[in-house]
Amino acid sequence: MRKVTGLLIVLSVVALLLTLSPRGWAQDEQVADADRIENWKGKTVMVYTPHPDDDTFGCGGIMHLLAKNGNKVIVVIYTNDNKGSRDLEMSSERLAKIRKAEEEAACEVLGIPNENIIWLGYEDGDLEYADPFRLREQACKLIKQFRPDAVFTIDPGSEHERWHKTDHRMAAFITKDAFIAAEWHLYYPQHLLVDGLKPHSVPVAYYYYSTEPNYTVDLTDVIEIKLKAAAKHVSQFEPSLDKYTPDMSEEAFQQVRQWGMRRSKEGEKYVEKFRREVSP
Ligand SMILES: [Zn+2]
Repeated sequence: MRKVTGLLIVLSVVALLLTLSPRGWAQDEQVADADRIENWKGKTVMVYTPHPDDDTFGCGGIMHLLAKNGNKVIVVIYTNDNKGSRDLEMSSERLAKIRKAEEEAACEVLGIPNENIIWLGYEDGDLEYADPFRLREQACKLIKQFRPDAVFTIDPGSEHERWHKTDHRMAAFITKDAFIAAEWHLYYPQHLLVDGLKPHSVPVAYYYYSTEPNYTVDLTDVIEIKLKAAAKHVSQFEPSLDKYTPDMSEEAFQQVRQWGMRRSKEGEKYVEKFRREVSP
C-alpha cells in the first residue's frame, strides 16, 4: 500500500511538472504534416516586421511558399526605414520612398501583391519612442480585422534584445502583446462597439530571428526566389548603401546571393528556422 502511495506521489509530481512546463510549445518533430505551415492552403497568415526587409530576410521563403499555395499573406510594416543610408546626398523622405518601392518589388518576387502590404509609417529607429498603447492598438486591430490562422514576427526575447536596433525589440514585444489584447474584447473595447470587430485568438505564432528555433522549413526548392527578393532591397547593400544607385550590378547580386546562401545552409539543405508557439 505504501509502495502504491509512493508511486502515486511520483506520478503526481511528474504531472505537476508537465503542467508547469512552458505551455503551448511544440517541437518540430511533433508537428503533424497537416499542421505544418508549409502544407497550408487557403489560410490567412500575417507577417509583422519592424522594417521593410526583416520580413524578406527572416521569413521570405515561407512567405513565398504560402503565397504559392494559395494562402493570403498580409505584411504589416511598422516603420518606413528612412534612416539607413550612408549616402550624404540622401534625404529621409527620398529614402522612405525608395524603401517602399524596394519592399513592393521584393514582395512581388515572393508572390504577394501591394494591396496586402500595410504600412504603419513610424520613423526608422523611433519605434520604441512611439506611444506603446497606440502602437499595440494598431497591431491588435489588424489581427481582429484579418483574423489570421498564424502570425510571423521577430522572437520577443532573443538576440535582438542584445542588439542596438530598437525597432526590433519594440516590434517583437508589441506584436506579442497585441495577440493578447486581440483575444479580449475589453482591451480597446471601441473595436467591437464602434467597428464591430470581434476578438480573435491567434492559433499559432512563428518567431523569426530566434535563438531558440524549434521548427525548420526546407527552402531548397525556392531559395533562389527568396534571394532574388532579398536583392530587391538594393539600398540596403553595398555599394548602394554608401552611394545610392537604383540598380544592383551582377557582381553585387552574387555577393548578396552568397551571403543569403551561407545564412540559410544547413547540411545539404537551405532552410528558415523559427520558434513555433501554439496558443495555449
Ligand atoms: Zn530591421
